[in-house]
Amino acid sequence: MTDDEIERLFDLIRVPSVSADPAHAGDMDRAAALVAEEIERAGGRAEVRATGGHPLVVGEVPASTGDPRAPRVLLYGHYDVQPPGDPERWESPPFEPTIRDGAVFARGASDDKGNLFMLLVAVQRLAAAGRLPVRVGVLVDGEEESGGTSAVEAIAAESEPTAACVIFDISMAEPGRAALCTGVRGLLYRRVHVTTAERDGHSGLFGGAALSASHVLLSILGSVVPTEGALASELAGGAAPVEDEERRTWDELPSGERVLANGGLAPSDPHAAAEFYERTLARASLDVHGVSAGDVAKVATVIPGHASATLSVRLAPGQDPEAVSVALERLLQDAAPDGAEVDVERLGDAPPAYMDPRLPAMRAAEAGLEAATGRPPALVRVGGTIPVVGAMVDAGIPVILTGFALPSDAIHSPNENLQLAHLALGVSAAQEILTRLGTVD
Ligand SMILES: [Zn+2]
Repeated sequence: MTDDEIERLFDLIRVPSVSADPAHAGDMDRAAALVAEEIERAGGRAEVRATGGHPLVVGEVPASTGDPRAPRVLLYGHYDVQPPGDPERWESPPFEPTIRDGAVFARGASDDKGNLFMLLVAVQRLAAAGRLPVRVGVLVDGEEESGGTSAVEAIAAESEPTAACVIFDISMAEPGRAALCTGVRGLLYRRVHVTTAERDGHSGLFGGAALSASHVLLSILGSVVPTEGALASELAGGAAPVEDEERRTWDELPSGERVLANGGLAPSDPHAAAEFYERTLARASLDVHGVSAGDVAKVATVIPGHASATLSVRLAPGQDPEAVSVALERLLQDAAPDGAEVDVERLGDAPPAYMDPRLPAMRAAEAGLEAATGRPPALVRVGGTIPVVGAMVDAGIPVILTGFALPSDAIHSPNENLQLAHLALGVSAAQEILTRLGTVD
């Protein structure tokens, strides 16, 4: 990047746009305005759009030919950042970008201001050279780090046909080799209520004869928890296949045994460590997060009349959220005996996303990343949930999710940083990808 480009990125980083902290509301507006300026600098128009939460930056940049029928590519990123945490743990102030050892250190340097800026600079350069072959839509979120829904709502309301969405917000597989994401898991979060009586009973009087809510809860949870890592077929079905190329990438990653041990966790069954990546990235999983019945702090011989639990299903890429949700509820209801009332409360849904590497947009991304880095990207998946990616794929938009952070960039931690050389690498990759997307229908 040029000195001028870097200085503008640093100006954006200096704005402490911490979305989780209401004290930074004014900073959110300032950061959004700076992002809008960058879109205008590319020859586009931009708007800072008020939402129920923090503003969204929405913009459009015309293709260099001016052709309104040129393919449209949407760029997504976020201008909000995680709180800096304890300032004592930072070697330089979190909101003063500081260069040392070839990297810029600051909150947001990598996630996502640095990565977002690579995309914006690429558009500016292609437009200035008269070589922007696509119409560019821009959607920049101010609530990514705080669980807001404004961007997902904006995506659901998108009506324009879009050839692809490009997001720079993940790490490279390793220095010199980019990662291209083929799948993100979704999430169904539920609270289950079991009622067997209006009030608790006494086990001395009724024990052995009365229906207990705690027993019913344990048995209905037992009907959905995995056996040897496998979920009931109704909950596991529909997962997208795993390419050999993806498996080869997993073989190069640290062993499942080591990852579990580093997390201080024991494997769930004898095959869990060997199947770690398959299970956490490509299959559905179910976890019971909390269970409540009676009062374990007391010695009380009650038969609880009410019991509840929270659980979630991580949906595999390719699965239909509604089908799994209905199946989950049916399994829980069917396992309950007469006399028990089971109520399943929906606390949150986010669809999974599968990005088939054979899609033309994904091929264009692979070729663009290889042109910029000299190596084909590693195909990776994300076991967590990124609601905007699910929303885009649901809207029929292929998502190119990549980025130029490194696993060692301390994202969300003190001393977050980004390699300066990666700014240039990312701009070049973004240019290569956008150029190739010009020929994808
Ligand atoms: Zn991010």
